[in-house]
Amino acid sequence: MAALKLKKALLVVDVQNDFCPKGALAVAKGDEVIPVLNKYIKEFSKNKLPVFVSRDWHPKITGHFKKFGGRWPQHCVRETKGAAFHPKLKLPNEAIILSKGMDPARDGYSAFQAQDANCTDFLNLLKIFGVSEIYIGGLATDYCVKFSALDLLRHGFKVYLLTDAVKGVNISSRDSEDAIKEMAACGAKLITFVDFAKRSVKP
Ligand SMILES: [Zn+2]
Repeated sequence: MAALKLKKALLVVDVQNDFCPKGALAVAKGDEVIPVLNKYIKEFSKNKLPVFVSRDWHPKITGHFKKFGGRWPQHCVRETKGAAFHPKLKLPNEAIILSKGMDPARDGYSAFQAQDANCTDFLNLLKIFGVSEIYIGGLATDYCVKFSALDLLRHGFKVYLLTDAVKGVNISSRDSEDAIKEMAACGAKLITFVDFAKRSVKP
């Protein structure tokens, strides 16, 4: 049997209405990541590489929300408009949707706590698809992007952080900056679409 060919994949994190301007937990200029992410999505899709798309998919009652002892206002309650992907995000039919934050006892920031429609978790999906390198962008830099990237690095994946396609919550003004530094210190490569366009994305 031929060895499984290792390849690249894209992870688009939480580009949902509630994290974009006017949303329940809006990230400043969060929607500005969309046109850039659409360019990455198009390239991965064209090259038949997996496009993973995560979403916060919370129950109405969860310890993640302020009302129940957590730190966040209610957001991305599953099946609501706020939890829907932003209408301008152009997802291909074959995009693999990963839901997370369903467990009321956990925050579920990382895509490693997410599963697809068949309840296969992200790490197993990466193995099934033979992925070794992940390009990651979306919302928010200082939470779900950061925790997903750090988990990927911890599991030995090569991680490219798409610095022109992330925005942060910035509860403290330097949170995003610090998160990017932390990801880079743990081994993430920082790139923009210009850098990306220079290299082949083909497996
Ligand atoms: Zn959440």
